[in-house]
Amino acid sequence: MPTDLDALLTRIAACRACAGDFGHEPRPVVMVSPRTRLLICGQAPGRRVHESGRPFTDPSGDRLRDWLGIDSATFYGDDRIGVAAQAFCFPGTSPAGGDYPPPKRCAELWRAPLLEALDRVELTLLVGSHAQSWALAGRYRGMTETVRNWRDHLPDVLPLPHPSWRNTAWLARHTWFEADVLPYLRERVRGILHP
Ligand code: SF4
Repeated sequence: MPTDLDALLTRIAACRACAGDFGHEPRPVVMVSPRTRLLICGQAPGRRVHESGRPFTDPSGDRLRDWLGIDSATFYGDDRIGVAAQAFCFPGTSPAGGDYPPPKRCAELWRAPLLEALDRVELTLLVGSHAQSWALAGRYRGMTETVRNWRDHLPDVLPLPHPSWRNTAWLARHTWFEADVLPYLRERVRGILHP
């Protein structure tokens, strides 16, 4: 029997609302289930994820899984883990080299009904500035200060930097992240997957 979530995911999979803005066919990538307890909200798929059709099939995903303390089999195989980026499709690469930001249209269209349908989520990871500024609104203080004050948002929300290689220097400068935040994150993930 299809659920509200199934129906919503079918509509998202068929969404082509940004087709006129992208130079390519939109390919929505979302990985959630009615059992999702840990929800990972990043910014938007990159080119590799666009091609694979699965979230975080890239070096960012490898670093994220290390942060979570889980392997790929668990990440993709345990339906208590869900991924719903701020935008579900690869927005394309700008002439400067980086990817374009996630189109706001996606969150405006889909985010509220999707989050409402995921009623078992215990912890939401806000990965990067786009997810944080949208979800925290007036409480967002820029990525670094928001992550530095990670305890302010517990127990439901944990802001993280994006695990992209672009943040390698940030991680080296802010050693408190690995020392303080990651042990807490891994403990929460263990608690969700091994209650
Ligand atoms: S990014 Fe979101 S709104 Fe745009 S086409 Fe993809 S699913 Fe639709």
